[in-house]
Amino acid sequence: MNIIDKRNSLARHASRRYRRRSRGAIRNIAIHHSATTSGSAEAFARYHVNNLGWPGIGYHYVVDRDGAISWCHDLEVVSYHVGNSNGMAVGVCMVGDFRTQTPTSQQREAALELTQFLMNELNIPVDNVWGHIEFPGYSWKPCPSISMTQFRSQLAERTGQIDRSAIPSPTYVAGARQRTILSRGDQGDDIMALQERLNELNFMPGPIDGIFGPQTFDAVVRFQRAAGIAVDGIVGPQTRAALRDFDGNMEIVEHGSPTDEPDEREEIFTSESRRMLRHITPLMRGEDVREVQQKVGAMVDGLYGPETAQRVRDFQRRENITVDGIVGPQTWRALDRVSPNEHPSYTRLISLQTPFMRGDDVRRVQRALNVTVDGLYGPITEQAVRNFQRREGITVDGIVGPQTWSRLFS
Ligand SMILES: [Zn+2]
Repeated sequence: MNIIDKRNSLARHASRRYRRRSRGAIRNIAIHHSATTSGSAEAFARYHVNNLGWPGIGYHYVVDRDGAISWCHDLEVVSYHVGNSNGMAVGVCMVGDFRTQTPTSQQREAALELTQFLMNELNIPVDNVWGHIEFPGYSWKPCPSISMTQFRSQLAERTGQIDRSAIPSPTYVAGARQRTILSRGDQGDDIMALQERLNELNFMPGPIDGIFGPQTFDAVVRFQRAAGIAVDGIVGPQTRAALRDFDGNMEIVEHGSPTDEPDEREEIFTSESRRMLRHITPLMRGEDVREVQQKVGAMVDGLYGPETAQRVRDFQRRENITVDGIVGPQTWRALDRVSPNEHPSYTRLISLQTPFMRGDDVRRVQRALNVTVDGLYGPITEQAVRNFQRREGITVDGIVGPQTWSRLFS
C-alpha cells in the first residue's frame, strides 16, 4: 500500500476544529466517490474548507486514480462525510465520478487493500463496510456508484470470510418461451433464472442448479410471505410479477440538508453503542437483528433481509420518523419505546384448514378480532378476518399472512 501522510499539510479552517472520538466508537467504513472526474486530497480539502466552511477535509483517506492513498486525518477525527453517522464512520473517498467512470484497477485494488487494513485495525466486519448511499438518510445519493455487494464480496474473499452474497445475476424476465407455472420437481433454465432472482433478493434458494428442489421451494415460500402474496410455493403469474417488482418501489427519502454535516442531534447519535442495521448483501445477522424483528413484527430469523427492511419501513412510517428501512440511532430509540410483546412477530400463515389450525397465534388473532378465543382457526374466525381485511382495504382472502398480521398487531 502506497500511503502518503498528509495529516499536517492539507488546508484547515482558521479556527474551527473537528471533534475527536475513541477508536472504539468506530463501527462503519464509508466508501465514497468524489463525484468529480479528477481531483486530489489537496483540492477536496480546499473546497471543504473554503467553500463549505468545514474544519478540514471531509475524508480520512483519498484514493487517487493511480492507486496512491492520501492519509488525511487520524481515525479519531470526526470529520464530515455521512451526516449524522459521522461519529461512527471512517471515510474513504475514491477520486472519480463513477456515474460515468469506473475506478481504475490500481485504484480499486488500493481501496480494497486500505479497507481491509482498516477492518483489521478497527475490528470491523465486512457487513459494516457501507457505501455512502447505504447510510441512514442517503438513499437518494448516488455515492459511491459502484456495486457495494461486489466490493464486499471481494473483501470477504480476501479476508477469508464466508461469502454469502450472489455474483450479480441477470434480471429475471418473464419471456414467451417460459412455462407459465413452475413448481417442485421442475428443471431447466427457467428454474435457474428463478433461483438467480431469489438469490439476488437474498432468499437463498441454495445452489443455482436449475432444479426446483426443497431449498428452492422453501425460498419461494419465504419470498411469497415477504411479498404478502398467496403462499403456496408455486411460481405462477402473481409470484412472477412480485419477483419482478420486489423492492423496486423503495421510497426515495429526500434529505433535508444537502451537505454531509451533522445536525444538532449528532451528539446523541454518536453516544449510541449499538450498530446500525440495514438490508445489505451479505445479510447482516445477529441477536440485535432478532430484537428488531421481534419488535417490528417481522419473521424472527436473525437475518436482516428484505422483509425485515419492509417491516422497519412500516414501523418508521407509523412512528413518523425517517422512512429508510435502516435501524440507526433514531429508529433504535423508537424501538426502545416498544415493549417486546406489543407487536407479536409473524411466524406462519394461518388459514382455514381441516383439521383447524391451532395455536397461540390463532388466539392472538381471535382476541384482536373480538371473537371467541378458543385457539382454533375455524369458519367464524375466518369470517372475522375477512371482515377485518375488507375494512382495512387489503386483499380479502380470510388468510392471515404477513400483511394481515401486521395490520392486526401494529
Ligand atoms: Zn459520498
